[in-house]
Amino acid sequence: MATRLDDRMRAARTARLRQVVADAERLCREKGERLTPVRREVLRLLARSEEPLGAYALLAQLRRQRTGRVDAPTVYRALDFLLKLGLATRIESRSAWVLVDRSARSDASVFFLCNTCNTSVAIENLGVADLIADSARSLGFQVNRPVIECSGTCASCSTPPVTTPTGQERSP
Ligand SMILES: [Zn+2]
Repeated sequence: MATRLDDRMRAARTARLRQVVADAERLCREKGERLTPVRREVLRLLARSEEPLGAYALLAQLRRQRTGRVDAPTVYRALDFLLKLGLATRIESRSAWVLVDRSARSDASVFFLCNTCNTSVAIENLGVADLIADSARSLGFQVNRPVIECSGTCASCSTPPVTTPTGQERSP
């Protein structure tokens, strides 16, 4: 059972990863930009990660994968590029980056960051987007990147693990 679910999750993740890269390539073509191998790899690493990744974590993973030399400025340039194209966003409280869900209808995302397991979940909330837009309008303020970060404890970290007694009867 668990294996089949794992397989399905892995297949879904692979499909998502392929979709992310295909979308980025299309966006780059539209903007006359190039998704260089480093930019593509940083994008893939962000897409694969369930937690925001810092530049040095990305650098370590890139160095493990690539034969060529990669240094911190290369990673920062790739991140700047992804940020500029709206493919990634920066989580200020973690000094880390996450992939942007480009299917979201608004660009105001609320990030829920778990302090225990470091996972991040982005929720699109049109009410929040409207609130920011209204407030910005009344202040005459130009918002570049509406990012809301909420830190705390995720559901799985706040729930104690369920222990199933071994040797239980299994249904046929
Ligand atoms: Zn957690």
